[in-house]
Amino acid sequence: MAKELKTMELSNSEEMYKMRLVLLGPPGAGKGTQAKRIAGKYQIPHVSTGDILRENLSAGTGLGLKAKTYMDKGELVPDNVLIDIIKERLSKPDCSSGFLLDGYPRTISQAEALNQILADTQLDMVLNITVPDEELLKRLSGRRMCKCGASYHTEFNPPKIMNVCDVCGSTLYQRDDDKEEAIKNRLKVYAKQTQPLIDYYSNLSMLKTVDGTESIDKIFAEITSILDTYE
Ligand code: ADP
Ligand code: ADP
Ligand code: ZN
Repeated sequence: MAKELKTMELSNSEEMYKMRLVLLGPPGAGKGTQAKRIAGKYQIPHVSTGDILRENLSAGTGLGLKAKTYMDKGELVPDNVLIDIIKERLSKPDCSSGFLLDGYPRTISQAEALNQILADTQLDMVLNITVPDEELLKRLSGRRMCKCGASYHTEFNPPKIMNVCDVCGSTLYQRDDDKEEAIKNRLKVYAKQTQPLIDYYSNLSMLKTVDGTESIDKIFAEITSILDTYE
């Protein structure tokens, strides 16, 4: 595992191996928020399937149109669609020495497909962020997103200027699936289809669990201490 210092010393070496990580957790756990920070510190690409689907949606691609009907209801987009997306994304050169997956896998069959895609290589770790449902509801209903992928919260993590992204200056918006009906369905879908991955990765001794109820800074400190002691 690359430490920060090594990353700096070896930044010109394309061969340097970084790490292959998965962020697991229910909707609203803080995966995207932490992923941005992890990707920045360890210089690995942040691969968010939700962001990829939303980019397709706003570009009006066939894939985006197909995904929208599922996303608006808080249902999962079919596995074969996601497997194609992730196969293509992970084959890009920036993922060759490491990546951080956020929002994938979400089903056992997506996890199995990932194993096949990785072939001889392996994941280093699955970080599971846990937060109780009542807190998730508050987080998702106050979430505001930017088209650059940054996410904010009206109360818990407000931008410096109301409704304006700190990173890129764009106007923030509320996701269609962050309305109450869709949120409730997403939590049900998570419990049924994604939670089994906790046992799946735990049985493979890959799982590290992080308490997601702490502050954003404290959770990030916990994650970096886990990653920095992993060799
Ligand atoms: P959250 O912030 O709730 O974790 P995401 O941005 O990761 O949500 O995903 C938003 C929606 O995109 C999901 O509710 C689902 O419809 C779709 N989606 C994203 N990733 C996947 C995936 N791996 N499998 C199936 N559907 C997905
Ligand atoms: P996910 O990608 O897991 O769906 P996000 O990173 O988008 O989750 O976070 C969901 C919402 O909760 C956002 O509004 C975000 O600003 C807020 N949030 C993230 N982490 C925390 C935290 N530790 N405490 C309070 N609010 C948080
Ligand atoms: Zn932005």
